[in-house]
Amino acid sequence: MAERETLEVDVLIVGAGPAGLSTALRLAQLQKAKGGEPLSIAVIEKAPEAGRHQLSGALLDPSTLKDLIPDFAAKGAPLGTPVDNDNIYFLTKGSKFRLPITPPPFQNHGNYIISLSALTKWLAAQVEAEGIDLFWGFPGQHVLFDGKKIVGVRTGDRGIGKDGQPKGAFEPGADIRAKVTIFADGVRGHLTKQLYRYLRIGTGEPAQFAIGIKELWDIPKDRLKPGTVIHTLGYPLRQEEFGGSWLYAMGDGRISIGFVVGLEYKDPLFDPHAAFQHFKRHPFISSILEGGSLVRYGAKALPEGGWSTQPQLFLDGALIVGDAANFVNSMRLKGIHLAMRSGMLAAETAFYAIRAGDTSRTTLSAYKQAVDASAIKTELYPVRNVHQAFGLGLFAGSAAAGMAMLTGGVVPTYVAGHDGHKQMEKIEEYYGLAKRDILVPSNAAPIDRKLTFDKVTGVHYSGTHHDENQPVHLQVQTDVCHSICGSEYGHPCVRFCPANVYEMVDNGAGGLRLQINASNCVHCKTCDIMDPYGVINWVAPEGGEGPTYDGM
Ligand code: SF4
Repeated sequence: MAERETLEVDVLIVGAGPAGLSTALRLAQLQKAKGGEPLSIAVIEKAPEAGRHQLSGALLDPSTLKDLIPDFAAKGAPLGTPVDNDNIYFLTKGSKFRLPITPPPFQNHGNYIISLSALTKWLAAQVEAEGIDLFWGFPGQHVLFDGKKIVGVRTGDRGIGKDGQPKGAFEPGADIRAKVTIFADGVRGHLTKQLYRYLRIGTGEPAQFAIGIKELWDIPKDRLKPGTVIHTLGYPLRQEEFGGSWLYAMGDGRISIGFVVGLEYKDPLFDPHAAFQHFKRHPFISSILEGGSLVRYGAKALPEGGWSTQPQLFLDGALIVGDAANFVNSMRLKGIHLAMRSGMLAAETAFYAIRAGDTSRTTLSAYKQAVDASAIKTELYPVRNVHQAFGLGLFAGSAAAGMAMLTGGVVPTYVAGHDGHKQMEKIEEYYGLAKRDILVPSNAAPIDRKLTFDKVTGVHYSGTHHDENQPVHLQVQTDVCHSICGSEYGHPCVRFCPANVYEMVDNGAGGLRLQINASNCVHCKTCDIMDPYGVINWVAPEGGEGPTYDGM
């Protein structure tokens, strides 16, 4: 049996998205500026190469990029298309109403429509140019603790079969031990989740999430001016659901189109993917897409709770950055610049703590002070209650958003958030005693494979790949599925998963059994968040697998 390797570094960064890469780059800059013994830094990432798992709308506020890499233009940053015009519409089933003014959070002058995947690739190249080791295809699997101190991360084993037994090319994961571990493992990070569980790093406010489903399309080049930004509210969501859409013209006929739904909806038979299909069938949207073709598909959860839902950011031997810390402005639909900013601040704290020879929680608390004094708080604190208020309905949310804008966040003072998955009602509560076909979404949409597509076709366009002969990376307590979930909630996993991973199939005895098509998984984390019983645990599959979000 192969021996497990141990690697010792000063700083381990888990996740090579914008937050993790900004952390690494800032560390390299500090080393250069301050001189002295260089720190050893390692970055691990589950994707096989830079940008492959990065998905966002994506509008970039370049403020942090300017601070991190002032000569970003000369270095060829892929900033895509500058925003040219902003439009917000309220949709009803057959009509649209343009808002006469664009509220400040939706004003995007100075921002860019980008491919997050391309930006991440470019950031990774900047980090590699500084001589920092990036380990692609190495997912963290377990946090390593010494009592309550975090001392590193164990990466996933390779070469385990679906029966749990080693295959021919078995390689145990490595223990990477670090003075400071920086968790940049993204929304609902599965290692950060271990910190919630073992160290109780939550601060009492339930995290708030949404699911975003995105497609890239090529449409006739003269249809939308490059730099056009469109957001919509309303149809096909009902008053009880929160969400909306985006449509960004990237140039050369390529558009990013997507739909966001708050993961706190009540209807157990609602399907976010079906809502996206209805949205595309709206006359306004279908007239934009007509004659175009689908290029790519993807989905990802968004941490929308913002400031009030940040966890304990500093621990003995560890810091948390980016989406893992819930640093997203749900009102502006932006988080990339906040993720990068938090990475920069964490790097500064870690650098000086290691130089001082003290990486205790007390010393690392400087990170929280830096966050509190930074643009992260300036931006997130005033809108801390907005998503929580939208959880009470569109009108409550709109009123809270309006008041937050008018008063600079003084009002509303506090709106309690609720665990989204607990908002889902049981079928009997929601529908009364009326009998329903529980395998058909309440908002099922017609699929024509021109404008609307089924989930399996979407998976094809996401470029997702997993070796089928490995342990299923969706750990589900299936006794719950087979005993009570069907009668109580009608197996909602088959609807909230945007990739048809969960299927209820004939069990050969007149009932249904859960079939998990794990190889379809696009790593969006929605099931880990939205399962009403909390019995789905997403863990990283074997390294290098998952979606291929090039260009997204
Ligand atoms: Fe997303 Fe879970 Fe479905 Fe994977 S299985 S695509 S993480 S909902």
